[in-house]
Amino acid sequence: MRTKWGSCNPAKGIIWLNSELAKKPKRMIDYVIVHELAHLISPKHDRLFAAVLDRELPTWRSIRQELNSLPLAAWED
Ligand SMILES: [Zn+2]
Repeated sequence: MRTKWGSCNPAKGIIWLNSELAKKPKRMIDYVIVHELAHLISPKHDRLFAAVLDRELPTWRSIRQELNSLPLAAWED
């Protein structure tokens, strides 16, 4: 699940975050953290994963779109 912004190893319970993320708006940091935490529940981008994001960060789709429009993109893994 490695990406430019973060990754999660659910088996080991390890989340990695790109330090460049610290320069981004707080909503984007929140999105990446919630995204990676959701991988602890579901390692895939499946319905369960989306349901967790919908519950924890209802605006996640627009934030993801915004994040993807930034230069250091290639978010989807
Ligand atoms: Zn992911």
